[in-house]
Amino acid sequence: MLVKPSLIIEDITQIDLAALKAAGIRGFIFDLDNTIMAPHSGTLEDRIAAWLTILQVEGFKCLVLSNNKKADYCQMAENVLNIPVISHAAKPRRAKFREALGMIGLTATEVAMVGDRPLTDIWVGQRMGSYTILVDPLIKHSEKVYIKVLRRMERLFVRG
Ligand SMILES: [Mg+2]
Repeated sequence: MLVKPSLIIEDITQIDLAALKAAGIRGFIFDLDNTIMAPHSGTLEDRIAAWLTILQVEGFKCLVLSNNKKADYCQMAENVLNIPVISHAAKPRRAKFREALGMIGLTATEVAMVGDRPLTDIWVGQRMGSYTILVDPLIKHSEKVYIKVLRRMERLFVRG
């Protein structure tokens, strides 16, 4: 098993929206923690908030698919982001991904799955046949050492 993201970038704001639109992408399914918000922070960086606004102005459908199991946290994130959040997603399982597609009314090939974890976020998108975008985790510089080691190990599954 190898995970092969369609695109590997540092940060979601580097996504070329015009190019994706030209390629037939009409929506985004985002991971939450470390992709669009720092974990447990409940706050959104201004530059990411601005970028999410551009997405919606450009007409892209957006949804957040999180493995986080804390319903109140996900509800708070939904309020902050103004984007629907599905919690308990159990990525890389596909059931909630299919539910997400139904909610935004798009097919798997019309969405880009964006996340920081190869074996959950990218793997589910790849299995569904979606365009996949791997980003660097937002708080990588402040993480504990063992988490950094785990992340490096996980990246061994990625074929760039
Ligand atoms: Mg994440």
